Amino acid sequence: ITDNQQLHAFLFPVMAQGHMIPMVDVARLFAARGLKSTIICTPVNGVSVSKATERDRLSGLDINVETIPFPAAEVGLPEGTESLDKVTSPEMFPKFFSAIALLQQPFELLLQEKRPNFVIAGMLMPWANESAAKFGIPRIGFHGTSCFSLSVVESLKLFRPYEAISTDADQDTSFVIPGLPDKIEMTVSQLPTDFRAGKNVVTEIMEKIRESEVGSYGVLVNSFYELEPAYAEHYKSILDRKTWHVGPVSLQNTSTLDKALRGKKPTLDENYVLNWLDSKEPNSVLYVSFGSVSRVSNNQLLELAMGLESSGYPFIWVVRQIKNDDENGFLPKGFEERIEGRGLIIRDWAPQVLILDHPAVGGFMTHCGWNSMLEAISAGVPMITWPMFAEQFYNEKFVTQVIKTGAQLGAKEYNMWVDAKNVSLVKKEAIATVVTQLMGDGEEAKGMRRRAKEIGEMAKRSVEEGGSSYTGLTTLIEEMKVYTKK
Ligand code: UDP
Repeated sequence: ITDNQQLHAFLFPVMAQGHMIPMVDVARLFAARGLKSTIICTPVNGVSVSKATERDRLSGLDINVETIPFPAAEVGLPEGTESLDKVTSPEMFPKFFSAIALLQQPFELLLQEKRPNFVIAGMLMPWANESAAKFGIPRIGFHGTSCFSLSVVESLKLFRPYEAISTDADQDTSFVIPGLPDKIEMTVSQLPTDFRAGKNVVTEIMEKIRESEVGSYGVLVNSFYELEPAYAEHYKSILDRKTWHVGPVSLQNTSTLDKALRGKKPTLDENYVLNWLDSKEPNSVLYVSFGSVSRVSNNQLLELAMGLESSGYPFIWVVRQIKNDDENGFLPKGFEERIEGRGLIIRDWAPQVLILDHPAVGGFMTHCGWNSMLEAISAGVPMITWPMFAEQFYNEKFVTQVIKTGAQLGAKEYNMWVDAKNVSLVKKEAIATVVTQLMGDGEEAKGMRRRAKEIGEMAKRSVEEGGSSYTGLTTLIEEMKVYTKK
């Protein structure tokens, strides 16, 4: 390859909003540096990704979308189940993973046809290492999470601290995660179930993912160096893995329209939401949202509604329910009339980045999905942490124990879907207390607000020309050029 030849990047995200949204931003990052970016999608997701990148193409960026069919029917999933938020029961999980495994062959046909220079693929596709190797190109992994969280997983796997306290009675006793730069505490009940389960389809794929992380060329990290220097070094030096910090990738979206349309079209018009926020005092509004996959029971939603109401603070609350048959079943009687003007409920999908960036927003109650947290970090907004599943409990520890810009709600148990049947309810009193703790004028709250603002400034500097993430991307592109020349 000569300096004038265009490098071609293949971007293959896991079929979930929390992976596709940042990968579209990664595609933009490369295209903005003159590379050709091709995002690989399944048909249903391809429609929204094509739409999301339409304006980029019009502005001259070389961003393309290629689709490969998703074998839902072959694995016994309903037609159109092409994204994790459509996986609505525990039994559907292994099937979804099996369907992803079947994408290897069509993916390789596409590699053969398009001949990209490198591949960035989600970690749920561990076989992508092998596919890329067949064409002599590097595969870079994308977990969509931080070096902190990757380091935690490594420590847990290596030291197995959970084995020493695995009796039921000890599930809630906290232990220190060994081998990390900071003293990080968590409990066994907060660990992903695959640490505790025997061999099954899901634990086997998790094992393969960890192996493929080691076997990949390196890992692209949606975070910035200054946010987690000790963990960036730990992961690189102690664990000897290649990484490039290139985030926060959400900062790629600079216009109101880009921010509003990230993911999908908001259910409530963004201008309405912005006007509503304009009428509020700076730092006074709490934004409440639990991402694209979590499912919270009506009983828990009811407690949350009462907690938000009694806290007295203005709020925007994004509600995605388990059942659609009882639209308002979770709201206390007369709730919407009482909170009129003070609370805004958005059903299904909010323009999240736009909301977090508004000066009226002073706190974010989050399920600790990494994208959401990083968006809040970038906007300088402190958080109330309510982790539920995946690596969300690690993310909670990061915010509350490392950078200290969050107050924890006290979620005790790992659960894919917070269901009243097997997870204890977080009561309205606990909710109101933590909201007051974060939104109030106490010294602790002020300290968190100040730190959050400082870190938000650091985030913005990191993606500017000469900043650490800007340079991280340059390094990666240069490496890919050298690799291609060889
Ligand atoms: N998101 C959004 N509007 C919503 C809910 C989510 O724009 O109403 C976006 C959010 O900004 C983030 C992504 O969807 O970029 C969710 O990813 P995250 O890692 O936070 O959680 P997940 O959905 O993967 O659990």
